[in-house]
Amino acid sequence: MRSCGMASLKRLEELVFDNTYARLPGAFYARVEPTPLPNPHLVSFNPDAAALIDLDPDEATRPEFAGVFGGNLLIPGSEPVAMIYSGHQFGLFAGRLGDGRALLLGEIRNARGDKWDLHLKGAGQTPFSRDGDGRAVLRSTIREYLCGEAMHGLGIPTTRALCVVAGDEAVLRERPEPGAMLLRMAPTHVRFGSFQTFFSWRQPDQVQRLADYVIEQHYPHLERTTDAYARLFQEVALRTARLIARWQAVGWAHGVMNSDNMSIVGLTLDYGPYGFLDAYDPYFICNHSDHHGRYAFRNQPDIGYFNLRCLGQALSSLVTPEQEQEVLAAYETECAQQYLDLMRAKLGLREAKPDDATLAEDLLSLMAASRADYTIFFRALGGFASGPEARNHALRDCFLDRDGFDRWAARYKDRLRAEGSGDAERKERMHRVNPKYVLRNYLAQAAIEKAHRKDYTEIDRLRQLLAHPFDEQPEMESYAAPPPDWAKTISVSCSS
Ligand code: AMP
Ligand code: MG
Repeated sequence: MRSCGMASLKRLEELVFDNTYARLPGAFYARVEPTPLPNPHLVSFNPDAAALIDLDPDEATRPEFAGVFGGNLLIPGSEPVAMIYSGHQFGLFAGRLGDGRALLLGEIRNARGDKWDLHLKGAGQTPFSRDGDGRAVLRSTIREYLCGEAMHGLGIPTTRALCVVAGDEAVLRERPEPGAMLLRMAPTHVRFGSFQTFFSWRQPDQVQRLADYVIEQHYPHLERTTDAYARLFQEVALRTARLIARWQAVGWAHGVMNSDNMSIVGLTLDYGPYGFLDAYDPYFICNHSDHHGRYAFRNQPDIGYFNLRCLGQALSSLVTPEQEQEVLAAYETECAQQYLDLMRAKLGLREAKPDDATLAEDLLSLMAASRADYTIFFRALGGFASGPEARNHALRDCFLDRDGFDRWAARYKDRLRAEGSGDAERKERMHRVNPKYVLRNYLAQAAIEKAHRKDYTEIDRLRQLLAHPFDEQPEMESYAAPPPDWAKTISVSCSS
């Protein structure tokens, strides 16, 4: 054990497990051990996530480290389980799903008392694998590893990622690809779909047992309150509303918002064919299997509503129809309100005025018509000059309809003047909410292609860059560029 500041840093064997989920009745999981990856080696390690569980970062240099997170060795105290869940996939109830290729290795309690699931994705077949091989490919583990950390850097609730381990095993997708495992972390991996299983099996006692567990572990302030289950539903809905509002404001699409991919604690979960917007396009579809655009960018708030209805149905033995309707209405109000607040901040507005929503919407319409780059434009808008004579040429040149921009800019100037906004002070504020760097697909793709040649340096570079997406990082300027032409055709499949 090493000491560092207040917390003592632990070796792998010293991690303190408190496996609350594995202590639930057996109906909630299946006990399964990982299927080892042959010759595991470390692809990337994230010291920021290690700090969350008080793990000594030097542990990553031990040969056993890749063994543990490549499924070859179990740390003492670990009790691996595959969690059971169901879900609505693309609008239809899909029956029992469950962790078909991931295992909850156990839960670590850190010195501050916080608890973190260690969840190993790609760990081999489970009773829930159906026809799947239980594996994950290096490409998809890198994408999940990087995006979890990028979202965290942006201040968006998300699963975190400790490491990626690859091994000498080819995994067959459209073609053979290197197999890998991702160790991800979250306060819990319980999903909306976890409740749906027991509702669909007509087992209200198990629904209640799971709700009690979630309250005890993650919403303890609701214990012994009246209407605890309705309040739980309400808090889940509000967290989901705030989460999705943040996705919309930062310009990020999840891609597979099935109810089994919705976290019960309101964090971004299960990164698949996600995408950040390049050119602003409300109809952006990042998942090339989503032929009807169900999960298109602009639909995400409505899909959140749909998924909450699925959760509400699963909780119907605990929550009255009136309570359910109230919660769903609260979700809609909260999501819209949070989104408006976030857009105000992106525009550098301090006060709330009745026309703000229209001001934001009109800008977005102009951006859509000109396919202006979402991240680059909002970052540049921080430099808007509000003086009466200022023409803001660089911003204006982002638009095909320059007169349209001029008309919008005149309204924006009036609005800024009305609240006595100073250009320098506003720019500083806007730069704290409009990121300079986001994980564009082409950046992830470059890291993946290098990794396929066993060069893992780009993964680390991106991880460090994206941990501070609001800071100017002059030596990394090229990472803030719009996608090159070759990257505009990257399509991300669901296969992972
Ligand atoms: P996902 O699309 O990753 O959210 O997964 C949906 C369901 O399919 C979950 O039950 C997964 O565990 C399962 N699944 C996805 N890929 C595989 C695989 N390669 N092997 C086994 N199960 C899988
Ligand atoms: Mg999933």
